[in-house]
Amino acid sequence: MNFNQFNLDSRLNDGIKREGYHTPTPIQLAAIPLALAGHDLIGTAQTGTGKTAAFVLPILHKLLTGPRNRTRALIITPTRELAEQIHQAIGSLRGGTNIRSIAIYGGVGAAVQIEALHRGVEIVVACPGRLLDHIQNKHAKLGQLEVLVLDEADRMLDMGFLPDIKRILQHVPVRRQTMLFSATFPKEIERLAAQTLHKPERVAIGLARPVHTVTHTLYPVPHHLKRGLVIKLLQQTDTNSVLIFTRTKHRAQRLAKQIAGSGFKVTSLHSNRTQGQRRAALKGFKQGRYQIMVATDIAARGLDIDSISHVINYDMPDTADAYIHRIGRTGRAKRTGEAFTLITADDQALVQKIEKIMKQKLPRQTLPDFNYDVPKPDYPQTARKPKPRNKRTSPARSHYRARQI
Ligand code: AMP
Repeated sequence: MNFNQFNLDSRLNDGIKREGYHTPTPIQLAAIPLALAGHDLIGTAQTGTGKTAAFVLPILHKLLTGPRNRTRALIITPTRELAEQIHQAIGSLRGGTNIRSIAIYGGVGAAVQIEALHRGVEIVVACPGRLLDHIQNKHAKLGQLEVLVLDEADRMLDMGFLPDIKRILQHVPVRRQTMLFSATFPKEIERLAAQTLHKPERVAIGLARPVHTVTHTLYPVPHHLKRGLVIKLLQQTDTNSVLIFTRTKHRAQRLAKQIAGSGFKVTSLHSNRTQGQRRAALKGFKQGRYQIMVATDIAARGLDIDSISHVINYDMPDTADAYIHRIGRTGRAKRTGEAFTLITADDQALVQKIEKIMKQKLPRQTLPDFNYDVPKPDYPQTARKPKPRNKRTSPARSHYRARQI
């Protein structure tokens, strides 16, 4: 099986070759023919399955015929990093064709985006907030849109973007092709799908199960010894590049500092950093300038970094699904990876759930030369005053927003 079977416009062959794709992945096999035939789609696929090309190739094929200089495809994604990544994938896959795309997100100046929108781009890859600004200021014109993709829809729901998406939908034509991708389908996403898609075809590729190229180890540890244990683990393990997840941005920032204090080259990725810092962190991590990146779940979804050898869950995620997404950052593209998870007494229920999904009991390990008997200090480890509740955070917004990742 190869890409010829899809009868894609031959001008796309270069890009496909340049990306090194020979055989379509299962999601591509299932989704590309349906998308090319103009169907609306609901896709359930983990990131790492090749789902970006599954919607980008049919979009490019479509746009190669018909008018230029107007926005004909819109891809909405939850995070800036994902928008940038999809924009880059389009840049490679379009090969020598002159289809233009732009990534639109906040945290960076609007002028370049406005200029590009006025010059004319065929594909817009956007995060909801900044896109709405551009729509309201009449810079983005979506009245001639032909294809809409909602990527990582459940994540957008979690991040409180659903109202923005509904507002954006008021500015796009009713007659269009819509593709919605989501790892899970809570009620709100099913409702959104029912409101947004027309007789959709469903393509589901595998259950959200962690890739088999990853080995999982749990490290039981009391809360107050987590930091010591993670540093010990880093010192004892032969790692290439390590992505460490924490529950909040403050914990990410603090842990990165502490790890740096032990002599490692480390950066962090979370929503308290400016867009420039986020971009530099990601780039430095990808290029190996930083061996370690400490991140919140902002980095858990979708990011395509090939070389990660280890994922460490410093804090357990909230759900089994989030665990799987985090772990999906390693063991990519047939490489092997390791996932270490620090677990405390509070995490038992979730561990059981993950083991059920994985259909195996995960090995527990202790480090022989780590002192687990150090008593908990009497004073709080971080003397912080509790913060007043952020009044602007509407209770309807999810825990992600409230916790500020
Ligand atoms: P995605 O799930 O879209 O984030 O893709 C994950 C990774 O798989 C990316 O690095 C893609 O470039 C790569 N990829 C996508 N399709 C194929 C394919 N048919 N063959 C090999 N690699 C692919």
